[in-house]
Amino acid sequence: MTDAPTQLLIGGELRDAVSGRTFPTFDPAHGGELATVAQAGTDDVDAAVTAARGAFDGAWAKTAPAKRARMLNRLAQLLDGQTDELAELESRNSGKAKWQCAAEIKVAVSTLEFFAGTAQHLYGRSHVVNPAVVTYTLREPVGVVGAIIPWNYPLMMAAWKVAPALATGNTIILKPASATPLTAIRFGELALEAGIPAGVLNVIPGPGAEVGEAMAAHPGIDKIAFTGATDTGRRIAAVAAKTLKRVSLELGGKSPNIVFADADLDAAVIGSLWAIYYSAGQSCEARSRILVADQLYDAFASAFAEKARALTVGDPLVDDTKVGSLISRAHAEKVRRFVEIGVEDGGEMLAGGDLTLAEGLDADAFVAPTVIGGVSNDSRIAQEEVFGPVVTLSRFTDEKEAIGFANDVRYGLAATVWTADSARGHRVAQKIRSGAVGINTPFVAFPGVPFGGFKESGYGREQSLEALDLYTETKAVLQGTSPKPVNPFGT
Ligand code: NAD
Repeated sequence: MTDAPTQLLIGGELRDAVSGRTFPTFDPAHGGELATVAQAGTDDVDAAVTAARGAFDGAWAKTAPAKRARMLNRLAQLLDGQTDELAELESRNSGKAKWQCAAEIKVAVSTLEFFAGTAQHLYGRSHVVNPAVVTYTLREPVGVVGAIIPWNYPLMMAAWKVAPALATGNTIILKPASATPLTAIRFGELALEAGIPAGVLNVIPGPGAEVGEAMAAHPGIDKIAFTGATDTGRRIAAVAAKTLKRVSLELGGKSPNIVFADADLDAAVIGSLWAIYYSAGQSCEARSRILVADQLYDAFASAFAEKARALTVGDPLVDDTKVGSLISRAHAEKVRRFVEIGVEDGGEMLAGGDLTLAEGLDADAFVAPTVIGGVSNDSRIAQEEVFGPVVTLSRFTDEKEAIGFANDVRYGLAATVWTADSARGHRVAQKIRSGAVGINTPFVAFPGVPFGGFKESGYGREQSLEALDLYTETKAVLQGTSPKPVNPFGT
């Protein structure tokens, strides 16, 4: 068990749910319950909306941007100073390697700093319509934001929503995933410590189908910022349509990793390994389909499978662990079933299968880094999001076919291209239908760089100046400058 806070944070106070209900949250890698958490219901959504609306109508939206920036920077410092404790809590609650959780907390810190910097640069435009009418635009906060986030990058996802929302003067209600609610509550506490007023950031863990839907439907919430599964995003967009609130959706992916024959083999192998097995493959932008040029296929497949087999899988709290547990036994079971489907459909297991784990770990929650070779791009394993440490290898004959395979999925979140020919790298990048393309680098997300999807990977771009559009309304102000009265009716 942990001594981390486990109550709802509403209006600056930690409190139990109105119903008094609670739910358990777990330590998936070691097995067992980690904490009992207050479970929000619709009454708590109402209370959070009242608190967030009160804070919005009160001082927050009118607070000078420089002051908001200072508070966000202070929150970044507090987070930075507690990286180790928070990473341990996140690792225990999610099963992810602790050093990865720490790296993600550093991204949360940079995200807060990036958006703190934008608070004083919310520029409008001016325009002279004609000599008698001058206009300018104001960027105003949308109002109360409802943020619904997943379990795979809990604290980082919270920062991705909270930082732009607060920088632009909104207040926010954050609903973490039930599997990983603990660091979000602590984040809310740190915000108060940073001087962010009560009610500006509220945190209400609870079931998605009840609390998340109540948020999507609530007339007092002006915008939903969602990250999670594509089907959930579709549902949220449908529910939110009744009140016509703004919605941004960061959804699933089935991202390609294209290795051309002229690629640097070592760099492509190492980069591709990271691009799929980081976070045990539970990343929306995981490059889970490796497409390899015919000429390089055998060399790539054997080098990649050997490196995948050599990755240290085990206790997420141990420093040299590269791949921890999955989020739950149930999810690991789903991933194992996908591996079976891949093989039933004709794929060849090049790495994966049984694991030897240290005592004290729940083996049922782990899946070995798995490589399935000889996969056809139209098979289920190549089309559906597995969300685990499983990658497919497929061959292509030329650039056109590689691009065709890359785009022939319903998702479009990220892609990587490995080639020594930089003209080809840029040419292919232009033809891929996804929100980000890395050329000879596995990295596709940094604060300052737009992140989001084409197609069924969602809409809206986070982590960048583009995100400011998601959290602001543009207002046009028009000023007549003629000394004569305006008389359009000619009366
Ligand atoms: P999920 O959609 O099941 O849950 C995400 C959040 O939505 C949780 O807080 C959950 O409680 C809530 N929710 C569930 N049903 C809801 C409903 N009917 N109404 C409102 N809220 C509801 O997703 P998950 O399993 O937590 O996360 C994995 C998925 O998230 C994967 O598909 C992954 O690709 C995606 N993801 C996308 C990105 C991105 O930026 N594109 C980032 C991380 C994860």
